[in-house]
Amino acid sequence: MKIAILPGDGIGPEIMAEAVKVLQALGLRFEMETAPVGGAAYEAAGHPLPEATLRLAQQADAILFGAVGDWKYDKLERHLRPEQAILGLRKHLGLFANFRPAICYEQLVGASSLKPELVAGLDILIIRELTGDIYFGQPRGRRSAPDGAFAGAEEAFDTMRYTRPEIERIARVAFEAARKRGKKVTSVDKANVLETFQFWKDVVTEAHQDYPDVALEHMYVDNAAMQLVKAPKNFDVLVTGNMFGDILSDEASMLTGSIGMLPSASLNEKGQGLYEPSHGSAPDIAGKGIANPLATILSAAMMLRFSLAQPAAAERIEAAVRQVLAQGLRTADIWSEGTTRVGTREMGDAVVKALKDN
Ligand code: NAD
Repeated sequence: MKIAILPGDGIGPEIMAEAVKVLQALGLRFEMETAPVGGAAYEAAGHPLPEATLRLAQQADAILFGAVGDWKYDKLERHLRPEQAILGLRKHLGLFANFRPAICYEQLVGASSLKPELVAGLDILIIRELTGDIYFGQPRGRRSAPDGAFAGAEEAFDTMRYTRPEIERIARVAFEAARKRGKKVTSVDKANVLETFQFWKDVVTEAHQDYPDVALEHMYVDNAAMQLVKAPKNFDVLVTGNMFGDILSDEASMLTGSIGMLPSASLNEKGQGLYEPSHGSAPDIAGKGIANPLATILSAAMMLRFSLAQPAAAERIEAAVRQVLAQGLRTADIWSEGTTRVGTREMGDAVVKALKDN
């Protein structure tokens, strides 16, 4: 099993060191190879996704990714900016399915902005289509408006589009995922207004015929945004397009109170995946040793489950994380009165200890 380790920028290297420590403590045989990505790669090789890093990612069974980005790169040409590395990896590896679990840990219920009874025990999975939709549809651009009340005025436009195979494969991913969980899929669309999403709804409904053991419901995106804050526990797996998924997955992540706790995965058709925390490179706290490494450690657990066929090892890591939270250990972002504040390294050490004790 070969894992590409891409730490990146800001807090990336700090949180990655802890995740690697946890993986090593499992006693499994991994080959781990590290390469620069993002701003670090730009400094080292003049490009955020150098050829050698891309080759390593393509050869690996899975990629564990830290975070990229720093304000100091904001003035670079777009194709040289750190964030382009993620887009490049998605494109080259065909990573079309984005998994964002939103889990509210019992001990962190108080960190949510919602009432405890609404989020206690929350465990939902948002699956976002990642390579299509209005983010990539052509044509797009600026021009002189060809018609309408403001014909001749300068305008900008994008194109929302989805092909049948793109919808079918993400729908199947969602039904398969639901089979291993609560057996319910909510497909989120805007079929009442958009042709693209009427088609989405039709294709998801057809694909559902192969999954009679999974319940399917359809929901408009505006209603889904409301239900996520009104009764989030009614969801199990939520599947949607690229743009709606972008927005709803961030909304769902906030239900849990801390972005420092949330892992994510992006998978291709071969099951190869890129695993990363949902947060960014947090330049404001980089180098201080206070970042929460748990989102990256939990991303490593997802990697073991989805790309490396090691579900028992994934569960061991998740149990160890629950245990350190139960012991009252907290990094600054999730600290509250009566708990023990620890740094990045101490948190990683505590997870390793919990793993070894069990
Ligand atoms: P961010 O997620 O990096 O930080 C937002 C806030 O959350 C900050 O106050 C930060 O200190 C805090 N935070 C984030 N992760 C934390 C952790 N593990 N522990 C404790 N606190 C944590 O988002 P931002 O500030 O908007 O962006 C910073 C940089 O990251 C930008 O350059 C942006 O482009 C980049 N970014 C990268 C990714 C990625 O690599 N996938 C995703 C989002 C943003």
